[in-house]
Amino acid sequence: MTNRGQTLLAGLPDNELLWSLLDQVPAAIALFDREMHYIACSRRWMSDYRLGEDNLVGRSHYDIFPELDEEAKALHRRALEGESLSKDLDRLERIDGSVDWVRWSMVPWHDKAGEVQGLLFVTEVLTSDLERRMTSLIIEEELSLFIDIAENFALCMLDDDGKVTIWNSGAERLFGWSDAEVLGQPFDFMIDNAERVHGLPAMQLEIARRNGFYRGRSWKARKDGSRFFADVTITRLVRDGQLPGGFGKIVRDMTKEDTQTRSLEASTVLLRSILETVPDAMIVIDECGIILSFSSTAEAMFGYSRNEVIGRNVSMLMPSPDREQHNAYLARYLQSGVARIMGGNRRVLGLRKDGTVFPHTLRIGEAYGGGRRMFTGFLHDLSETEKAEAHLEDLQRELAHFARINEMGTLATAIAHELNQPLMAVGNIVQTSAELIKEGSREALERASLALEEAGREALRAGAIVKRLRIFVSRGELDRTFEHPGDLAREAVALAATGAKYRNVMCFVSQAEALENILVDRIQIQQVIVNLVRNAIDAIGSGGAVEVAVIQQEKSVRFSIIDNGPGVPETRIARLFDPFSTTKSDGMGLGLAICRNIVEAHGGKLWHENGSAGGATFHFILPEPGEEFDDGD
Ligand code: ADP
Repeated sequence: MTNRGQTLLAGLPDNELLWSLLDQVPAAIALFDREMHYIACSRRWMSDYRLGEDNLVGRSHYDIFPELDEEAKALHRRALEGESLSKDLDRLERIDGSVDWVRWSMVPWHDKAGEVQGLLFVTEVLTSDLERRMTSLIIEEELSLFIDIAENFALCMLDDDGKVTIWNSGAERLFGWSDAEVLGQPFDFMIDNAERVHGLPAMQLEIARRNGFYRGRSWKARKDGSRFFADVTITRLVRDGQLPGGFGKIVRDMTKEDTQTRSLEASTVLLRSILETVPDAMIVIDECGIILSFSSTAEAMFGYSRNEVIGRNVSMLMPSPDREQHNAYLARYLQSGVARIMGGNRRVLGLRKDGTVFPHTLRIGEAYGGGRRMFTGFLHDLSETEKAEAHLEDLQRELAHFARINEMGTLATAIAHELNQPLMAVGNIVQTSAELIKEGSREALERASLALEEAGREALRAGAIVKRLRIFVSRGELDRTFEHPGDLAREAVALAATGAKYRNVMCFVSQAEALENILVDRIQIQQVIVNLVRNAIDAIGSGGAVEVAVIQQEKSVRFSIIDNGPGVPETRIARLFDPFSTTKSDGMGLGLAICRNIVEAHGGKLWHENGSAGGATFHFILPEPGEEFDDGD
């Protein structure tokens, strides 16, 4: 070999050395002149291109490789014009139909004057290397086939961003997507849409990244839109001791497994049965918010069966905005590792399967099982309690109003009669006055003037009765004005004693001489007096007397409604002020309760005493205007 091409290489220095180099160098190297004739080539070049022992020196490259097309020749020309070129993987189709895969680079070589004299071609035939890799691919396929034999099993690899890099046929069979469809896609597509929107994929990766692995059960989606319940393991892969190296993911179809195994592994049958007897509902979730366990009380509370919720995100049991906030909270927790809602009963809202929202208390605890952190939630339904309370409140409000209207109904008959009086009087007086005026004498005119004044007073009284009646039935807030206690009592007594039924009982007001004005809602306090006076008259029947005594007691004014009736029976005293406690066939038993409310709303006190000589006395005391009523303006 050493004599090969010596003449052509005469111009080159150290050609002996060059030849021995080309003989031994483990690379395919060829040296061409400007016309692409061989000047020299390495032994490896001869073997790689299966060129036998022929002497190539002086021969045209294109004669030896007639398969070289114009594209290849153009590259050679560029190199001969001074460019350095290379390609990592090139397909070289041989004249005999075989294909070689090559990596090549070509650089121009220059003479001492710097002129390009030809080019140096270095190539590496990769075909056998590729064949080796193909073999390993076949082995991998065999491995997948082997994995395929295990039913309900899928294997895939993810890169650091969770994009699929390997998708075995088991995965294709289980999910329905081919590798062409999923390679390079984020692995989210495998997860059921309901969980995907809650950010489950990102949470799973975050846990695997942090802990080295993620293990959980959740609902997966198939290409055809169906779902299946799966056990998922995602393992962080460490490549060459370096992080990160992507993730390995194993998915096992659990649909056919016994539903028992879907529930929390850590819970024993005993624990389960104990928990089922707890009146509160219990829900266990994992770190991603995926429901692991759902007690039968929870089933009754939310209307979902256990199988419908296990493996789904717990936020499905919450209305907005809690639903969204819960995910944000879990995401925050995953980052910080700090949970902020442990312990304590909180009142929150739940969302039933039928879409109704209901209040419940929630107490959250933390638990560990099978190396995993979980959260337990105990829930107590408040809807019945709150509904009952609200109903009671409504009822009381309605009854208070109704009671007044009812009172009014009774009063209306009496008042119509009472109104009739002043109106008749006004009519008579006006008629008489008209005649007196017609008569025209001085005396007649004077009498007419007095009579008309009287008519005016009667008309005003009628107006006042109507007005009071109107305010009496409306549910207004306290409308306080300064009032004289004596006047207040007299008006109220007049109102209470209106009507035939009350004619046979004498009602009167006795008052202390010096009384301070009090700041009260006149209509309401009068309502109290009217109620108490009418109760007294009812108790007496006929022939008795009711006194309303008004006295100054230090800074307060005390009203006492004293009757000489039978008094309140001993047995009734304890429940006297309770609503609906009545002895009357047409009574509501609300009068005293309302009275006490009104007095207490004024900062006062209302109580009962039975007199030693029989009869009943009801007292109420109102603070005088001052600090108690000073509402700061
Ligand atoms: P109502 O009069 O509508 O029944 P109240 O709350 O006004 O309801 O009174 C409750 C009950 O208290 C009455 O039914 C009656 O039995 C008793 N009561 C109230 N005032 C007197 C009184 N002055 N003397 C005797 N019993 C009374």
